[in-house]
Amino acid sequence: MITSLNEDRKLKRLHRILSDSERIVLLGHSAPDGDAIGSTMAFRIVLERLGKDVHVIYPDMIPPQLGMVPGAKDATDATRYPDFARQLLADADAIVCMDFNAPSRIGALAEPLEKAKAPKVLIDHHLNPADFAEVSISRPEMSSTCFLLFKVLCGLELFTFIDKSAAECILTGMMTDTGNFTYNTTDPDIHVVVAELMKLGADPQRIYREQFETHSDNCLRLNSYALLNKMEVFKEDGAALITLSREELNRFHYVKGDTEGLVNKPLAIPEVVYSCFLREEDGYVKVSMRSLGSFPVNELCHEHFGGGGHLNAAGGEFPGTLDEAASLFRSLLATNRRLYLGQHNVKTKK
Ligand code: 5GP
Ligand code: MN
Repeated sequence: MITSLNEDRKLKRLHRILSDSERIVLLGHSAPDGDAIGSTMAFRIVLERLGKDVHVIYPDMIPPQLGMVPGAKDATDATRYPDFARQLLADADAIVCMDFNAPSRIGALAEPLEKAKAPKVLIDHHLNPADFAEVSISRPEMSSTCFLLFKVLCGLELFTFIDKSAAECILTGMMTDTGNFTYNTTDPDIHVVVAELMKLGADPQRIYREQFETHSDNCLRLNSYALLNKMEVFKEDGAALITLSREELNRFHYVKGDTEGLVNKPLAIPEVVYSCFLREEDGYVKVSMRSLGSFPVNELCHEHFGGGGHLNAAGGEFPGTLDEAASLFRSLLATNRRLYLGQHNVKTKK
């Protein structure tokens, strides 16, 4: 048995909103990942089985490897179909925001979301949720929105509506947000839920292979190049930095998703407690950080790199050049050393 969410009042209100709604829009965040796509697609399947008219919208394109998630290719990409996406939001009876905590995480869709008359629901696991939803089920202690969704569905007594496809969607998000259950996985309920999803027919080995072990040759070479030539390790400071310029990305025919997981690699080095990856985009730098223990990369991203996120996984968008972002990161090493020293031996401490 999994423990209940203890959100009875909110679940009742959510139940009421869903019962009163015919057209339901599910929204995921910009650059949708396995958890955003998995949670929205799973909820869509369940709601459709309840006879609802459901549309899923993402602010931009899904990465190719997530095209495998059941139904993902049918979602509306708001970058390609901005008017249709706006119309769907305006016409919705209910809007469910999944795997993001604030309208600022959905780019150009923020404005039509705020204007929409439909009641809004938030189902998410990021810290500091903005106050914009009628029902806000925000559980930052949970490792993925998919895990939270499973508990929400059980709370709504909709477990029997989770079919094999929905189970695969949920498992995808649980797996991708925990690095295949290698971090944020201390809650034993996670494994109970995985067992339930497997009983429903979800195949973790196949999903693992599709999400973690399927790469183009260009992608493998780009990641190898980045580690060989572009990784700076600051052992004294417990830090590592990888930068990739537009020119370097183009050289390896970069496509979205190719550098997924790269930021985690330097954490394998015993002295490294936090890692930063900077990727040059058009007009800004995408920042990605990961850490171990209690080193707060979300604070670092929030204070200096225009973003935020979780304690151990955060990101942001830096409005300057790649060199400026890298210099800023290096200039902060000394200040961060204090935090790092608090983390010393984090890898060996039990
Ligand atoms: P990633 O490094 O995989 O892009 O993002 C890791 C986590 O950092 C995400 O789950 C999200 O919580 C957070 N994050 C990434 N980019 C941004 C950003 O631009 N703004 C904010 N507020 N959070 C971000
Ligand atoms: Mn997530």
